[in-house]
Amino acid sequence: MAENNPTIFGSILRGEIPAERIHDDEHCIAFADIQPQAPVHLLVIPRQHIPSLKEAQPTDGALLGHLLLVAAKVAKDAGLQDWRTVINTGAEAGQTVFHLHVHVIGGRPLAWPPG
Ligand code: 5GP
Repeated sequence: MAENNPTIFGSILRGEIPAERIHDDEHCIAFADIQPQAPVHLLVIPRQHIPSLKEAQPTDGALLGHLLLVAAKVAKDAGLQDWRTVINTGAEAGQTVFHLHVHVIGGRPLAWPPG
């Protein structure tokens, strides 16, 4: 599934770039963000290459739900009681890696609205 994925997350899925996996199943993996924005900053990414939420299809519904459930699991496993899940979609919204991913951010008070 990671074969035709030219992004840095494709390289992580193929094992070409190291990332310590805190979760790994047939649909997704999770690992720590290399540039954490909070004491806990994790990323949950599908094995399937979907560039962003813009390209997600109705048939991806179960996968998208799974990503959110895994996000909640890794957040709890990291000891968080409260956290924020973020899916940046498109460059103007801050997306820099064009492989769909869910940020899990917590461990400090988080302001709203975000910048
Ligand atoms: P985006 O800005 O696309 O929503 O989020 C991409 C995230 O991927 C950023 O928070 C960035 O720090 C993280 N990231 C980029 N390259 C790597 C990498 O090689 N390893 C890890 N663990 N995180 C990365």
